[in-house]
Amino acid sequence: MSTNILVRKFGGTSVQDASALRCVLDIVKASTTRQVIVLSATSGTTDTLLRTARAAGSGDAVTVDGFVTALRERHLHIVEELLGEHPEDHKSSAIASVTALLDELHAWARGLIVLGECTPQSLDAVASFGERLSTTIFAAACSAAGLRTQWFDVRTVMRTDDRFVNARVITDELATLTRNHLLPLFNSIDVVVTQGFIGSTSDGRTTTLGRGGSDYTGALLGAALDANEIQIWTDVSGIYSTDPRLVPHATPVDSMSFAEVRELALYGAKVVHPDTIAPAIEKSIPVRVLNTFRSSDSGTLITAAQPDDADVHAATILRGCLAVFGQDVHFEESPILAGTGIEHALTIYRQRPLGHLDESIVTSDVAVICLCGPRASSPAVISRMTDALRPYSVKAVIAGLSSIASFFVVDEDDAVDALKAVHDTMS
Ligand code: ASP
Ligand code: MG
Repeated sequence: MSTNILVRKFGGTSVQDASALRCVLDIVKASTTRQVIVLSATSGTTDTLLRTARAAGSGDAVTVDGFVTALRERHLHIVEELLGEHPEDHKSSAIASVTALLDELHAWARGLIVLGECTPQSLDAVASFGERLSTTIFAAACSAAGLRTQWFDVRTVMRTDDRFVNARVITDELATLTRNHLLPLFNSIDVVVTQGFIGSTSDGRTTTLGRGGSDYTGALLGAALDANEIQIWTDVSGIYSTDPRLVPHATPVDSMSFAEVRELALYGAKVVHPDTIAPAIEKSIPVRVLNTFRSSDSGTLITAAQPDDADVHAATILRGCLAVFGQDVHFEESPILAGTGIEHALTIYRQRPLGHLDESIVTSDVAVICLCGPRASSPAVISRMTDALRPYSVKAVIAGLSSIASFFVVDEDDAVDALKAVHDTMS
């Protein structure tokens, strides 16, 4: 049973400054569904915080002070710009909270200077300030805009083990804690604003889920809450039919299955990491990727079930690979693909394997184009693609490993032209 809650995660660029945060606020205001807003730190802040912690551990007080001052100025400036026009009480309470957080950060850093070391536990404690700052500011902006809002410390529910810097979430405990502490908030409010990326051990020590962990927070909270949908708001309009830097007329894909996202991620796409949204997909909660700065674009819907609206949805390319021809070669490194080429068996490696390459082994620099979609490995699609690739040097066509993916191994020199040809034959 869905609880009629929307979980919306906004990444670092979506919260980077007052004008971006105003876009987020408009998006939040436009929905009448109850929502959990999960935020990243403002872009670049997590990096600055980690540098601050390391500088502190090595006793470099000057660097520490410089970083803390820069973070203070940046965040207070955002408050000033975002809340400047609002009644003084909203702004001054936001300034007080932000100042308290930055003072606490400075105290932590001074402590590390005294200790003369920076442990993974300290890195997590210091890194947590990024998300705590961005959510404090945004919750104040939501309240000032008249939304019934509650800032929520995600560490209350995001129970993890103590593998600092890369903590594992204890999902049973997360589910119970969420039901007890987060869900009841919706009895009196409509918007919960909380942090991505951070968690806590059962004895109250701050942990983090690994870099880029906020998508994972969104999916975990969505799963724990039985949300209607999880939205990942970023600065592109979804998952594209191919890399728009290589093929400028690429367009966002309306919908695709989680299995397709997995294939795309293995072969070069970077928008969402499949592991981070797996908790949502396992509960059949759809995940939508959307653009904060073009909020009326429909984005890409990722579902557990395979949509059947086209033969092919997207193509990615992995460049700079090595094809090894012949059967009995074994390297330490595991190959990314193996199959039968036009004439020989071949194995594809992501990079040139370390170690000795026997003179007699025939190799070639190649790019692997991965095509995914409901019928990406059907004979009809394969023959259409093979025709389109006729002008290029194709080393192998590999189909049938999975019904939703096929692979075209082309000469590295033909990579971009071949990708264009495949892309333009997709629909
Ligand atoms: N702020 C964290 C990072 O930069 C988490 C995230 O943005 O997803 O890694
Ligand atoms: Mg980030």
